[in-house]
Amino acid sequence: MTHHVVIVGAGFGGLAAAQGLAGADVRITIIDQRNHHLFQPLLYQVGTATLATSEIAWPVRHLLRKRKEVTTLLGAVTGVDTENRKVLLGDGGIVAYDTLILATGARHAYFGHDEWEPFAPGLKTLEDATTIRRRVLLSFERAEREADPARRAALLTFVIVGGGPTGVELSGAIAELAHQNLPGEYRHIDTRKARVVLIEAGPRILPSFTEDLSAYAHASLERLGVEIQLGQAVRECSDQGVIYGDQPLAANVILWAAGVRASAAAAWAGLPADNAGRALVEPDLTAPGHPEIFVIGDTATINAWHGKPVPGIAPAAKQQGTHVARTIRMRLRGNTAQRPFRYRHSGNLATIGKRAAVIDFGWIKVRGWLAWWLWGLAHIYFLIGVRNRLAVALSWLWIYVTGSRSAHLITQGEQRPRTQ
Ligand SMILES: Cc1cc2nc3c(=O)[nH]c(=O)nc-3n(C[C@H](O)[C@H](O)[C@H](O)COP(=O)(O)OP(=O)(O)OC[C@H]3O[C@@H](n4cnc5c(N)ncnc54)[C@H](O)[C@@H]3O)c2cc1C
Repeated sequence: MTHHVVIVGAGFGGLAAAQGLAGADVRITIIDQRNHHLFQPLLYQVGTATLATSEIAWPVRHLLRKRKEVTTLLGAVTGVDTENRKVLLGDGGIVAYDTLILATGARHAYFGHDEWEPFAPGLKTLEDATTIRRRVLLSFERAEREADPARRAALLTFVIVGGGPTGVELSGAIAELAHQNLPGEYRHIDTRKARVVLIEAGPRILPSFTEDLSAYAHASLERLGVEIQLGQAVRECSDQGVIYGDQPLAANVILWAAGVRASAAAAWAGLPADNAGRALVEPDLTAPGHPEIFVIGDTATINAWHGKPVPGIAPAAKQQGTHVARTIRMRLRGNTAQRPFRYRHSGNLATIGKRAAVIDFGWIKVRGWLAWWLWGLAHIYFLIGVRNRLAVALSWLWIYVTGSRSAHLITQGEQRPRTQ
């Protein structure tokens, strides 16, 4: 019987593992709860009406259509029977494996306040991004019809919680939307007066970057009109707005870009985990006591970056997927030696609006428009397929030259206007 590799999660790690196993003497089943692979680094651009959903996501089944040894299944995994080597699906389905790769990623976390989620959506899935886009655009629409000045001000206040790359990218893009793209489209409000407030509990934004790049990003965001509140933790999120430090701030839109919680992979397989739920894995990315189970990407943690934890970013998940595929190939050839994983860091990137970015390659730091072009080229390069690369490049070029965004659509959702 051909060796059966089951990969749970068709994100960056899971797909890299499937790609690394091309041509190996294995059967592969790849299971994901969604039918698409998602390019999360550009999700904020869907949330802020720059790109359409189809430009950053691709059906997994289509991506792997030429790989006859790969079966793609749509299903949510809820457990692993490690004793009998079976993956358990929420609908009662069972998939047996010889080798299992858990690559189920992470979601945003609310530091024990899950009740804030309805008021402050995070950004992780396409649905999250379209929810954010809908809320942002609907807020302008409602402000246009609001006569009460206090309520109008709240409708034109956008709060972003968390000053990491996602919070910085969201606030820069919303400020540009309000202050540069939308003026002229409304008759009763001046969208240039919209407030975009970025709240960060720590002493500076972009804490994973060097202090000078973080200071540059701070100044660039302020130039775009973003108000930055540092050293203040958010204590409350509600339909009225937020309370940060001791101050209430009335806001109709709150976006959550702070905190991460790993998928439940560690719990499914009964593995030790850190505070964020990430499985603690062996140096070769296997689960302790289970050499047939690998846990990779955002759902695992390992100190394989010169003794430091590997960051939760796409290149790290990809490298781990490739590493695990090589290990499986060697095992199939009879070589069962442990192969420790070592992470190679190629850099940190964050963009600030459509004209500036910061990049820390370690050996050189780049900022400003040059960094923005490098950031753009890198992201276009990593998209899948020539058509998507061209479509995204064209969308960006169009916005860059004309300042007009094409993805201003309010679709589906909780606040659908009652006109139909
Ligand atoms: C908004 C945002 C912006 C980001 N920007 C960047 C960036 O600019 N650069 C960068 O390098 N990284 C960025 N990241 C991080 C990067 O996207 C992650 O590190 C990377 O996706 C991790 O890959 P992964 O394979 O571990 O998980 P993912 O890519 O998240 O894939 C996990 C997969 O598992 C599936 N899954 C989850 N649970 C189940 C289940 N129970 N059953 C079945 N399937 C399941 C999911 O549907 C998903 O397809 C960003 C992340 C976010 C959210």
